Amino acid sequence: MGTHDRVETSRTLCECGRGQFAFYSCEAERGLYVDNPIEKWFEMHIFCKTCADKFQRYKPIVFSLDEEPDHWKIIIPYSDRVPIH
Ligand SMILES: [Zn+2]
Repeated sequence: MGTHDRVETSRTLCECGRGQFAFYSCEAERGLYVDNPIEKWFEMHIFCKTCADKFQRYKPIVFSLDEEPDHWKIIIPYSDRVPIH
């Protein structure tokens, strides 16, 4: 197992306005893959049950992070952008 970094890049109101979307940029070191040891991806965290249901195709998973309340997390293809749903 390598190290794992998650940095919040932006945050916006969710679509229904009762919660929030938070965007994260993530990196992990994968010691096993010598040619490409740093893996990068983007996440959107959804602090709203109504809006989480709109992203079923991204298979939201329940997640908790530091002081934040439990919420839903999806992997997205671009940083800071709500994916098509
Ligand atoms: Zn919402």
